[in-house]
Amino acid sequence: MVILGLGSNIGDRLAHLEAAVRALAPVMRGLRASRVLESRAVLPAGAPPAWDLPYLNMAVCGDTTLAPLDLLNWLKAIESRAGRVSRGIWGPREIDLDILVMDEVVMASAGLTIPHPELLNRDFALLPCVDVAPDFIYPHGVYKGKRVLDIVREKNVALGEHLKDTGMRVHV
Ligand code: AMP
Repeated sequence: MVILGLGSNIGDRLAHLEAAVRALAPVMRGLRASRVLESRAVLPAGAPPAWDLPYLNMAVCGDTTLAPLDLLNWLKAIESRAGRVSRGIWGPREIDLDILVMDEVVMASAGLTIPHPELLNRDFALLPCVDVAPDFIYPHGVYKGKRVLDIVREKNVALGEHLKDTGMRVHV
């Protein structure tokens, strides 16, 4: 099973999420989608105020026969078809697709790290994982062997001022 994180903070954000989920269907079976959350953009000090645009975030899970790098290439193709242009690491994006976790895969290469190195630091990524795969066993580091649901409880991850449930859903 693979869990992907999706985010969009420019243009028609929900339409970008919906298009990405549709484009995943050929390579992911048994797709399940989380709630759609809204979160404040993570920005470094001094970032242009125009980049401070709220994200819609969600996760999907499913099964794939693709190897990790092939899946990453598929995700990059979806991003570029959505018209994503490079505005720098912190800039707004039509769609961002990240491999959060993938079975028991633990890998770190120049272009791909799994589990995603920021997953456990980002409430907007972690919380949607509980919607789609609460029993997923995290395979790495200090939380190795723990269920995603228990990690979220242990870390007290919850909705709040900067992480809201939009009530929107993307249908799979
Ligand atoms: P982003 O700005 O989030 O699209 O990420 C930029 C780069 O991160 C991508 O071009 C990937 O090569 C790299 N990357 C490393 N690990 C991952 C991962 N787990 N999922 C997605 N991208 C990743």
